[in-house]
Amino acid sequence: GSLLSAEGLHKTYGATPALDGADFSIHPGEVVAVMGPSGSGKSTLLHCLAGIIQPDSGTVRYGPHTLTGLTDVQRSALRRSDFGFVFQFGQLVPELTCLENVALPLRLNGVKRKDAERQARTWLERLEVETVGGQRPGEVSGGQGQRIAVARALATAPRVVFADEPTGALDSLNGERVMSLLTDAARDTNAAVVLVTHEARVAAYSDREIVVRDGRVKDMLAGLI
Ligand code: ADP
Ligand code: ADP
Repeated sequence: GSLLSAEGLHKTYGATPALDGADFSIHPGEVVAVMGPSGSGKSTLLHCLAGIIQPDSGTVRYGPHTLTGLTDVQRSALRRSDFGFVFQFGQLVPELTCLENVALPLRLNGVKRKDAERQARTWLERLEVETVGGQRPGEVSGGQGQRIAVARALATAPRVVFADEPTGALDSLNGERVMSLLTDAARDTNAAVVLVTHEARVAAYSDREIVVRDGRVKDMLAGLI
């Protein structure tokens, strides 16, 4: 069955419609690329699926939970324990070292400092950025910063990783490197990935592509048949 699914999502911002009956589903370990023109509702869909915002109507289910039926506090707790996030501009904490940034979500989940740092170090090695662990995010390159952001997103062994234009600020070589490291790590841990991207080259790392248009989801293959 599906791990995460949504039915009939509607969301408007004032008079601006963002989602107009969007449906979605993803299986454990699956990598889905969400494509579509700017302003079509991709980010809003991602934020509803991740429980960051609530749709005006419609249902989001995650495992046995109905996300749309939970309180804000319950949704935050679930996000922290089960979801990981990668954003376009890493959004790392500038005052912390790269290692501390990766250790932070583990600490927030109650892992003791020594263990959190040991696990964070393993993730930095995995993403091939162990040499910058002691530096602050402002001191590393864009590609290194995004790999730190991926390490941070995966460190808590999330069941779903949400990535919103994770390579949008990178050149194509660094972008592909981040995508290949992200999808390999996700496959190894059987994490599902919901990836918003404009770039076909980035979407090529997914198992399945969907297109959002005018707040509705179209299956790429269904459009071709
Ligand atoms: P995409 O990610 O595909 O660019 P978005 O989900 O960001 O699309 O936006 C969908 C529509 O909703 C757009 O018209 C956008 O301007 C609008 N929108 C998104 N977020 C907000 C917001 N916080 N306030 C007002 N309008 C918003
Ligand atoms: P994307 O790059 O996914 O298209 P945007 O750059 O359009 O996203 O939006 C970035 C942020 O601004 C998002 O948090 C979105 O919700 C918000 N936003 C988008 N459009 C509007 C808008 N018209 N008014 C207010 N906030 C918006």
